Amino acid sequence: MLLQGLRESWDLDSIFSGGSRSEELLSAISSIEAQLAALNKKVEDFQFSKESFQVIMKDVQETAALLNECISYVGCLAAQDVNDKQALNLRGKLESMNAAYTTILVLLDNKMAEIPDEEWNEALQSEYLSSIAFSLNERRNLASQKLSYEQEALMNDLAVDGYHSWSTLYDTVVGKIGIEVELNGKNETLSVGQAENRMTSADRQERETVFAKYTEAWDQQGDYCAEALNHIAGFRNSLYKHRKWDEVLKEPLDINRMSADTLNAMWQAIEENKGLFVSYLDRKASLLGLDKLSWHDVDAPLSSADSKMSYDEAANFIVEQFQSFSPKMAEFSKQAFEKQWIEAEDRTGKRPGGFCTGFPVKNETRIFMTFSGTPSNVSTLAHELGHAFHSYVMEDMPYLATDYAMNVAETASTFAEMVVSDAAVKTAKTKEEKIALLEDKAQRSVAFFMNIHARFLFETRFYEERKKGLVPVERLNELMAEAQKEAFCGSLESYHPYFWASKLHFYITDVPFYNFPYTFGYLFSACIYAIAKIEGSSFEEKYIALLRDTASMTVEELAMKHLNEDVTKPAFWKKGIEVAMEDVKEFLDLTK
Ligand SMILES: [Zn+2]
Repeated sequence: MLLQGLRESWDLDSIFSGGSRSEELLSAISSIEAQLAALNKKVEDFQFSKESFQVIMKDVQETAALLNECISYVGCLAAQDVNDKQALNLRGKLESMNAAYTTILVLLDNKMAEIPDEEWNEALQSEYLSSIAFSLNERRNLASQKLSYEQEALMNDLAVDGYHSWSTLYDTVVGKIGIEVELNGKNETLSVGQAENRMTSADRQERETVFAKYTEAWDQQGDYCAEALNHIAGFRNSLYKHRKWDEVLKEPLDINRMSADTLNAMWQAIEENKGLFVSYLDRKASLLGLDKLSWHDVDAPLSSADSKMSYDEAANFIVEQFQSFSPKMAEFSKQAFEKQWIEAEDRTGKRPGGFCTGFPVKNETRIFMTFSGTPSNVSTLAHELGHAFHSYVMEDMPYLATDYAMNVAETASTFAEMVVSDAAVKTAKTKEEKIALLEDKAQRSVAFFMNIHARFLFETRFYEERKKGLVPVERLNELMAEAQKEAFCGSLESYHPYFWASKLHFYITDVPFYNFPYTFGYLFSACIYAIAKIEGSSFEEKYIALLRDTASMTVEELAMKHLNEDVTKPAFWKKGIEVAMEDVKEFLDLTK
């Protein structure tokens, strides 16, 4: 084995030594405070000249990098020990500093919008500014489409209590829900999260019982959730009306640097190719002894075939698979394991889930997860290493040229995950193991092509209806059930009308339409994977060049420049869907 005796805990001391009591960290935080005050003054007094603008942009990027360095570090501390109170204190402090930074930038954006085109374009020719020209033009254009600085500032202030607070209220409602169930003669009270875990149980009776009680709970809280959802949407619709933005999708599309044509082409390709995924759902139903699946059967496990790997084995397997697609990605990952950039230890007191976070000053990354040896852990590890590799290939670039959007953020991670999960299927030792791995992949496709499609259909229709007035619980249920039926092509026995209440994503106020970027990322990456398989080792260079440009152009330009592909046409998206179809075909074959 190439890698042996790896430590499963990460090294954070090489970033700041001493954890949440670190002197180095505290002094970095004080210098950010000073930098923010100085920057604020500079922006307030700003008079445009090429030179002064360049100086300000240098300061902005330096401050942003250090701020993010500290935010990442404190995030790591809070994740590795949920009881680290000092880390939580520092997080609160850094969050308000981040808000101050954002406010300074909004003022700067407005000042940029006032610079005459000719002088602006001239300034962007300079070597330093041209490397961040895309981001600067984007900020300037957006500022000119919004209300005046004073109006936007007032709106942002009022939004704290009048908009974001609805999201907090929702969290409070959800936190108080206790779902009482009687299972195997025992009475239990489950939280929402616990109930959701139970709904993926292998025991259908348990899934059914919990789902019924879960639905009852949402029915009881429905009025509060509907209130919150209606006011979040009402706030957004009003703001858009004042800004004279007619389409509710304008903002989410802008944030993801993509056009409506691209989004429509993606959904069209998905809609035209759902047949095989319906066959998969039908097959799963018959394997479970059912005529049709119900909502709570979609994510049910088919078997308990689970092969485990040690951490060392997983590391070697991942590095070996990466090698065949990109030696650079393999070498980078080997280093990440050896330099202890990964926290994978299976112990209590850690927060659940996984993430990859960047340190833009030190040019390092850290990965967080809990590794217990399952195939899904191995995928997660590969996924997060993909994110880390994305940061690594951008490490010499200016800060604003590395700020990629959610839809392309998942490109490198999904790509890495696909390389590894495909290899896992190929090297599976038994038929059962192979079926379980393929089923896992098919489930993911169903989530992206059907479940998330339903969320998107629901959300667009709801926002339209909301323009005419409040939308009551009964109508929200109707809209959701219709969207699910449509997205799943009527293939299920029953649906989940209260999904609009149970899905946190609809209540996120920082990011509108927290759904289609997921599907975009997955499919975009699948398309790249399909191309990589054809081109072999010559693809590496092209792949790295594409990743480096993810924050410097629109997705249409990105795909055209690096893949010579037109993402506004369904034909492009079909290539990615075909990758997913291969898995389903093999699954259907093996389970005949
Ligand atoms: Zn990810």
